[in-house]
Amino acid sequence: QKAEWAKLLNEKTVSKDGHHVELAANIGTPDDLQGVLDNGGEAVGLYRTEFLYMGRDQLPTEEEQFNSYKAVLEGMKGKSVVVRTLDIGGDKKLPYLKLPEEMNPFLGFRAIRLCLEEQDMFRTQLRALLRASVYGNLKIMFPMISTINEFRQAKEILLDEKEKLKAAGVNVSDNIEVGIMVEIPSTAVMADQFAKEVDFFSIGTNDLIQYTMAADRMNERVSYLYQPYNPAILRMVKMVIDASHKEGKWTGMCGEMAGDEMAIPILLGLGLDEFSMSASSILKARTQILSLSKAEMEILAKEVLQLQTTEEVIEAVKKKTL
Ligand code: PEP
Ligand code: MG
Repeated sequence: QKAEWAKLLNEKTVSKDGHHVELAANIGTPDDLQGVLDNGGEAVGLYRTEFLYMGRDQLPTEEEQFNSYKAVLEGMKGKSVVVRTLDIGGDKKLPYLKLPEEMNPFLGFRAIRLCLEEQDMFRTQLRALLRASVYGNLKIMFPMISTINEFRQAKEILLDEKEKLKAAGVNVSDNIEVGIMVEIPSTAVMADQFAKEVDFFSIGTNDLIQYTMAADRMNERVSYLYQPYNPAILRMVKMVIDASHKEGKWTGMCGEMAGDEMAIPILLGLGLDEFSMSASSILKARTQILSLSKAEMEILAKEVLQLQTTEEVIEAVKKKTL
């Protein structure tokens, strides 16, 4: 089986009826790049930059960050690299950032909320990214966006730093796409409006499921409610994809669900453009998609959206594909 997969290393991911999707990888550090290339990743769909900030006792400098971003962009040789700005908080803490204890950290002061207040820290990261942008195909993504205003503020700060760098004579790419994670239900519901302003969406199902089902993604006791195939989640995914396409934009997914054998047929049918997963899942997913017809999966997707339970959805997918 492994040998079969290896043959697909440099193949495009095309369904039986000729529809191309992009299979990308999630990474945490530049050291993960080799794994992406070894497994036939067509892009980096999520670079989680928090690891640059963790396991140390002070903020990383602009220079340190610039070097990491440049290494990833160069390593991917012009293939697209989606870098997510700092997504700290919730379960991820930084010892040197003194933040008050919160009753509900997952609903608290984290990610873009924190970055919009700690602007020095945010601007340093954005400058490092902008300076690195000339070394490859950079896309910048903001995490945990819940309102249009947050996106506008974040983008304004980005453009402000870009202008300042250019005024100082620094080279910055003019082709950087700017997108958001869709991982909060308010943003999925408002996707049609967001789609007018962002360049792309990436659906973060790890959090989107937790917030939609109100079930802590770390809590065993409520894990039965953590249901990727619940029609409530699938309908939201559809809304986001449709909204993006209506405005000529694209939608990826970087939560665990994107690499899930049971979810892939539905996601293909819903029209997902990019699937970002751990590198080790890519060749298996490519093999699966090569065997599926997009037209048939569209019928399956339509069907499962009308079902009532997770169990019914799983049954329907198995019947159609396995
Ligand atoms: C997600 O929420 O789906 C996601 C990809 O981000 P993280 O797992 O880093 O929260
Ligand atoms: Mg998340």
